[in-house]
Amino acid sequence: MTKRSSLRSQLLLAAALACFAILSAQVMIRYWWTLPQFSHLALYNDRLEIQRFKGVLQMQLKRLQNIAYDNGVWDESYQKAMIQDRQWFKDNFLLKPSFQHLSINGLYFYDSQQQLLAGMSVDNNLQPIAVEMFSAPQAIATELLISTADVQQNQLMPVAKTSFITVNGKPAVAISQSLAPSLEQGPSAGTLLLWRYLDNNFIDDLMLSINNDIQIIAPEQMTSIAPYVSALLHTDEIQVKPWNKNLYLGVLGMNNQLLLIFAIPQSPRLYDEALFNSALTAGIVVSVFTLLLLYLFISRKLVRPIRHLLKTISYVNFSNDYSARANLQGHNEIHKLGRLIDQMFQLVGQQQQKLTQKNRTLQDLSNTDALTGLANRRSLDEYLAILRSTEASRKQPLAMLVIDVDFFKRYNDFYGHAMGDKVLQQVAIALQESTHRATDLVCRYGGEEFVLVLENTSKEEASVVAANLCQAVAKLAIPHQMSTASPVVTISVGLATKPADTIIEYETLFAWADAALYIAKDNGRNRYEVA
Ligand code: GH3
Ligand code: MG
Ligand code: MG
Repeated sequence: MTKRSSLRSQLLLAAALACFAILSAQVMIRYWWTLPQFSHLALYNDRLEIQRFKGVLQMQLKRLQNIAYDNGVWDESYQKAMIQDRQWFKDNFLLKPSFQHLSINGLYFYDSQQQLLAGMSVDNNLQPIAVEMFSAPQAIATELLISTADVQQNQLMPVAKTSFITVNGKPAVAISQSLAPSLEQGPSAGTLLLWRYLDNNFIDDLMLSINNDIQIIAPEQMTSIAPYVSALLHTDEIQVKPWNKNLYLGVLGMNNQLLLIFAIPQSPRLYDEALFNSALTAGIVVSVFTLLLLYLFISRKLVRPIRHLLKTISYVNFSNDYSARANLQGHNEIHKLGRLIDQMFQLVGQQQQKLTQKNRTLQDLSNTDALTGLANRRSLDEYLAILRSTEASRKQPLAMLVIDVDFFKRYNDFYGHAMGDKVLQQVAIALQESTHRATDLVCRYGGEEFVLVLENTSKEEASVVAANLCQAVAKLAIPHQMSTASPVVTISVGLATKPADTIIEYETLFAWADAALYIAKDNGRNRYEVA
């Protein structure tokens, strides 16, 4: 059996494939389902984040608008503007402490002719700075100042504007408010304009209401960040485009160009964005462990008994030894199969034993002479073949006796064949009883002739046996009227021996013994002769 086709390696392959399938399924679920859901949720959070910041920003602007309204829509400033009382504005508004208190960088008043009444700008350290465009308002008149026509168009109601501009090269917000009476009804008396830098100071004020690390993008980075701007302050549309863990909110200037960009840190992701995270790894480890247990279970409960069964059957097949048993202990189908196979082995073994027994009987039958029960000629041949093949028999002496019943033809003729058979049986018993060693072989060679093979027997000892045989048969005293040698049935014996340590072919020995038998016949029968 090749290794690859074995049950165990196939099982291992299946387990590996299952591991791979589980891994793939987990990765796919994460890629197409879990991660997109998380990311959707995160983007939703980002949108809320932008909206929240926009709200805070607008609240801050609203605060500035309220300051402009409170000071612009007021009977006193309305009347003072009407009479162009420059000193009154100077004395009441252009005070550094109130700039600091209101958190503004500049405050200007213009009359209805858009001529400057009074105004001042300071930097963040409250040091006065010169701002050309506010002191000489022609340049900004149409964009930032509120004209009489604007108010008339608004049915003599106060008009306000919020603009994002550049002051001395830095982004700022400017709030313009028409000067109006407290009742909010009347022609414009001029414009109040206040402004503030959109810088880190501004952000610091925002941070009081939000807890975020907002930053203003440096002007040189504006172009590279512009594509990632998710929303504009002025519009409601939000298209979340996070980049570098930040969300970007843009503010447009007067010419509709990006004036500045706020960077809002993205709320931290509460999930791992990686495709392979620890949860996935844990899942895989658990799956692999489970499959390993399953593999071990199947290997132990299934593969091992099958292999054992296979080994037992192979052994029986090879050795033909049906006494082997699988001896599987357990109650599942394989164990039951194992026991059935054991039963089959037992049955086959028993039948094989019976068959061997029968074969042996058959063998015995074919080696035995039916009439006398002595070994037959085939048996003699086999016996001699065995002797020939053993070394010991060469060293030992051996005697061969050929025996023939005297005048047996006459006996048959006179007493009948049936009586003749009885004689042969009695002679056979007499011959058998005259030999005593276990190795002595007495066989009926054919007709009324017998052969005795005496192992490890010398010529002298064999002569004694031959004499005994003659005596034993005569002693049977079976009457034989037709014999001229004796009144009873007798035998003649021819004896030949092989001395120790010699090699003589058994055929030769037989021929010698047979020749000796003829001499015994010639010498009057009822005797033995030695070759
Ligand atoms: P000899 O003394 O010279 O041996 O004379 P014999 O008559 O014994 O010799 P022969 O070989 O001429 O005769 C053998 C006879 O043995 C012939 C046959 O009738 C008889 N015989 C051979 N086999 C059997 C047998 O199985 N049963 C019986 N009843 N007679 C047999
Ligand atoms: Mg004969
Ligand atoms: Mg004879």
